[in-house]
Amino acid sequence: CGSIKPLNTLMDFYDIIIAGGGPAGMSAAAELSKDFKILILEKKKPGTTQTTWYSYEDRAVKYELEDAIAVRTKYIKFTAPTVEHFMKDECVVFDQQKVLEIWMERAKSNGAVVKHEAFIAYYHLDNEIVVETNLGNYRASLLIDSMGINSSILQKNKLVKRKDAWVIYGAKMSNVVLDNPLQLEYLPLNDEENTYIGIHPHNENETNIYAFKGQKNTFGNPKELKEKFERFINEFQPNAKQISILEGTIVSGTLKKYALDKVIFFGSSGMLNPDGCGMGFNEILMKHRAFSDGIREVMKTKSLDEKSLQRVAYALKDPETINFQKIIGAFSLYFIRSPGKWDGGVKWLNAMGEDSKYWMRNEMTLDWIKRANLKLNGVIPFKETYKMIPLKDFLFILGQYIRFKIKSKKSDFRNSA
Ligand SMILES: Cc1cc2nc3c(=O)[nH]c(=O)nc-3n(C[C@H](O)[C@H](O)[C@H](O)COP(=O)(O)OP(=O)(O)OC[C@H]3O[C@@H](n4cnc5c(N)ncnc54)[C@H](O)[C@@H]3O)c2cc1C
Repeated sequence: CGSIKPLNTLMDFYDIIIAGGGPAGMSAAAELSKDFKILILEKKKPGTTQTTWYSYEDRAVKYELEDAIAVRTKYIKFTAPTVEHFMKDECVVFDQQKVLEIWMERAKSNGAVVKHEAFIAYYHLDNEIVVETNLGNYRASLLIDSMGINSSILQKNKLVKRKDAWVIYGAKMSNVVLDNPLQLEYLPLNDEENTYIGIHPHNENETNIYAFKGQKNTFGNPKELKEKFERFINEFQPNAKQISILEGTIVSGTLKKYALDKVIFFGSSGMLNPDGCGMGFNEILMKHRAFSDGIREVMKTKSLDEKSLQRVAYALKDPETINFQKIIGAFSLYFIRSPGKWDGGVKWLNAMGEDSKYWMRNEMTLDWIKRANLKLNGVIPFKETYKMIPLKDFLFILGQYIRFKIKSKKSDFRNSA
């Protein structure tokens, strides 16, 4: 990495260095700083982000983030060309900067150091890890990579298997106060190109609006999409003014590995999300304590090799949910190959009724998965689905059906949280 390596005694030592101060890095820092000497490196102004997050009232309470709630809504609205679905829940939109500030302050009050520096590279030295930034070098026992899906460590080691959905255009807009306040909503911008709009009301006259694309799409013409997005904003709020830009990954991809020697990835890397589903921030929120508990365990044993760290990462995965999401993925080929796919998805959500919220929350149980599979079949008849699913996926799905059937007999609700 660096050409001249400084003597290790001249470098500050931390138990753990966390590179990246987004939700993953900051939430882990808030937890791990209770037990360890932590350094957080963030290349932008620490405590800021260009993303935006909806979540749920009960989660805000559970993780003591009530002070960061910007707006409460009673549902998430999914609008499709011919149908709509109101996913009833106690939803909230967070003030995302405030969430980060809260976690950062918790970490600092436990003694963590936050530096506005960019991670450049790392190397191993005397059973420690040395991290180089644009301003200095630091030693640690462990490096947590929370730099998101574009992390240079992931890129350099070619660990990203797939990137799923990302924001193409997005902005925080100021709008005039409306008689009917804006709701938390998702709708297609261009159904055929798999491009959608997300609306997160922030307060009565500020709204986060963004267009995002799914992984399997025709890509369309970026210029045309931008024009469509701008037209949408104009029609939606003719006098709106842009306050800031929103960008980033919506649904992260999958990694080939989640740990290297003395390095573990945490955050929008796919470790938390089942393949291609789930919303990153909410997963981080749900799992940051379990992740920190795993790190505490390995720090005790000092086994920070790739294999031990990989076990910490895999403990966060939930095989049933991942397999179910694969089924949804296979079924969604149907929607993706046909016009009106967003319609189809919304029809399935309607068929799920009140149950649909557990999918969005990623709180799935075997019983729920069984019900969801049956309802999915109601939306896409079996005789149609088997023709469009590749043989290898079809066998997988069949196997899963049988597995779910057997397992769900034995199990009640698992994640009733
Ligand atoms: C517009 C938008 C809307 C979204 N809506 C939702 C939602 O409603 N609900 C939900 O659950 N999720 C949502 N997401 C997804 C969610 O924001 C991401 O999954 C989440 O931000 C991932 O967190 P992270 O900490 O892993 O990565 P990131 O948020 O990408 O944070 C990575 C951090 O690392 C820093 N960094 C990068 N490189 C370096 C370096 N070399 N040195 C130091 N620091 C570095 C970056 O500056 C950044 O602060 C949305 C995303 C976007 C973009």
